[in-house]
Parts: sequence; structure tokens; C-alpha cells
Amino acid sequence: MQIYQQFATRNDCYRRNQAEMNKSPGSRDSRYAKYYQGPRGVMIHSTGANNPNLRRYVQPDDGTLGVNPNGNDWNRPGLDVAVHAFIGLTKAGDVAVYQILPWEYRAWHCGGDANNTHLSFEICEDDLGDRDYFWSVYWGAVALTAELCRKFGLNPLEPGVVISHAEGAQMGIASNHADVGHWWSRFGVTMDDFREDVSDEMNASARPLYRVRRTWADKDSQVGAFADLDKAKAACPVGYSVYDSAGNAVYTNTNKEDKNMTKEEFREMVNTAASNAASAAVEKKLGKYYKTLGDVTSNTFLEALSPLVASGVLKGRGGSGNDLILDMHEESLRILVILSRIMSEVGLIAPPEDADHPEDVLMHVADVSAYAADEAVEAHEKQYHTIIRLDAEE
Ligand SMILES: [Zn+2]
Repeated sequence: MQIYQQFATRNDCYRRNQAEMNKSPGSRDSRYAKYYQGPRGVMIHSTGANNPNLRRYVQPDDGTLGVNPNGNDWNRPGLDVAVHAFIGLTKAGDVAVYQILPWEYRAWHCGGDANNTHLSFEICEDDLGDRDYFWSVYWGAVALTAELCRKFGLNPLEPGVVISHAEGAQMGIASNHADVGHWWSRFGVTMDDFREDVSDEMNASARPLYRVRRTWADKDSQVGAFADLDKAKAACPVGYSVYDSAGNAVYTNTNKEDKNMTKEEFREMVNTAASNAASAAVEKKLGKYYKTLGDVTSNTFLEALSPLVASGVLKGRGGSGNDLILDMHEESLRILVILSRIMSEVGLIAPPEDADHPEDVLMHVADVSAYAADEAVEAHEKQYHTIIRLDAEE
């Protein structure tokens, strides 16, 4: 998540921390010295006033916040409060996180001993009735708390680590306030829910991804990245491997069984590899994007694409010559290269007169692959397992 920084350097709390840090460790105020050993938790607050705009509290305007013309923001001397961060709305109406104190500074957020131990942030309240706003800032708070727990090695499920101001009051380490429960209960959310969501968020971002590539070093060949190993295997084309996050190949599609592959199986394999790669490329916007044939500068690609264009198999989405509109990502082009080689190998560069296909759908990779596989198999029924190896052995 993005955390904007606009430190409240004119706030007395900010200045007090600067002064404490300038002292030798042995002569520091013990409350500051305790916090400087590292935060042991995160306390969640909400502002208790109907104003969801960050600019009410965070200034000066950085172009995103907007201006607070009333001079009552928290970046001024004479306040006895300061938190580490705020969650609320930018002037464009987007939910954002703004950090106003370094995490390493002891904040003045709860009027009790939790100031010595807990990080803190305020969620800007609205009128407490807007469901969309509530869920936006709630998930922002989950992401921020997960980020802080990760950064400082905190377990959100351990007692007393992630707490609301009201819970701190019950524990005797904060002043008597009702935030955030007075607001969250209107939407059926408890602090236990919040702690679970923070934990889930931490686990989700720590989950390793399985990447499907030709080789680990060839990042451009990546077909996709999957949390689920079985899904990664299913998407792994012949000649590719599934790599764990450390770069170890945990599965390689050598397709050793293809000696007895039927025509249908071969067609299926080519189609699946082509459409997986194409849809992964479009979804993940993998590799370079080629608007027109003129954008293709790689000789390897051009050598393979030229015969497809010349034979009319690759018609694009309009235009001609270098202006032929490809509208493809790199991974889709790779599939076309494979198909072109298959066709070249079996002498099928020019499509037969009686080819049974609609002329105008051939620009789609999957359609080209279906056509190429079909024709290749018809012509050289016995060669198909050799043909597909052209790609695997490149
Ligand atoms: Zn509070």
C-alpha cells in the first residue's frame, strides 16, 4: 500500500521527539526511551468529528490533500495530541494514508501508557452512516496495520498488540474513549474481526507465488504467476517450468507422454498453451505491447510473422504492411512464432483454398492455433510430437 508522508514538523510532539533523540540515551525521559526500544503494538483511533477530509488534520497541502483554510490542522504548535498517521479522503475524494510522525517517534495519542508502547493512527470519521466510506477506510486500516505489524515484527493476534482506543481504556493504558467501536458496530464489525483481517492480509502477502517460465532467468517468457501450484502446472506449456519463489523448478512440462498422443490431444495441447498464454498476457499485461506490426523489431519475431502475414493467416485487426494492427502482448506473439514454425515445418505456410474457417476471426491467437494445429495434424499425422518440440528445444 502507498503511504504518503507529510510530517507535522510544527507539532509540539514532533519537536519533543527531536529533542529527546538529541539527548544521550541514558538521559532521555523514560517514557520516550521505552518507546524508542521499538513499538509493541498498534492502537486504532477514529477522530470523533464529522469530517472525512485529510486536509482537516494534515497540512500543508501537497497538491493531493487540499488546503485547510481554518488553521486548525495538526501541523501547528500548541496542540497536545499527535498520532503517527491518518486515513481519510484526499481532495479528489480518494481514500489515502498520510503519515505525520516517523514511526520511531513516541506519539501523544491516547492519554495513557500505551503512548509508550503503541503506534497509532486516526481514521477520519464521516457522519458514521456511509457504508462505502466505512468499508474503504476499514480495508485501508487493515492494510496499514498489516504493514506496521510486518515492519515491526508484531503478531496482530497476540493479546494487547492490535487494539482500539476503547480496548486500551479497558486495559487501563488509555483514556476513557469509545473509538472505534461506536462507529464499527454500526456495520457489524468488531476488533476481533479486524485482528483476523489483519492476520489474513499478512498471510496473503507472504504467500509465495509459483511462476511459469521457460527458464528462471528468462523473465520475459513468464506465462503467469499463481498462488496455487496445481493451477501453475495446468498453465505450464511444453518446454516451460514452474518455479517457486526462490527460482527452483518444481515442475517441468517435458511432455514425455506425447509419443502416443492422439490428434485431439495434440490440438488440445496447442490450444490450451496458446489461449493460456494469450489470456495471461492480456490480464497481466505481460511483456511488451505491440500495437502494429511496425512495433515488432525482433528479427526472430519478424521471421516467423512475415510468412503468416504474407499467407493471409494473420490478418490483424485492420491496416496493412507495417500498420497492420496486431493489438497483442509479447506472450501472444511468442505463441504465433511457435505456430508459424509448426506450419513452416509441415509445409502449410499458405492456407488451402478450401480451409474450413471464417476469414475474419484468424487474428485471434487461439483461433490461429486451432487452425494451425488442425492443418498440421491433417498433413502430418505422425509428426506432431516432433513438431511441438521445436519450441521446447529452442
Ligand atoms: Zn482515540
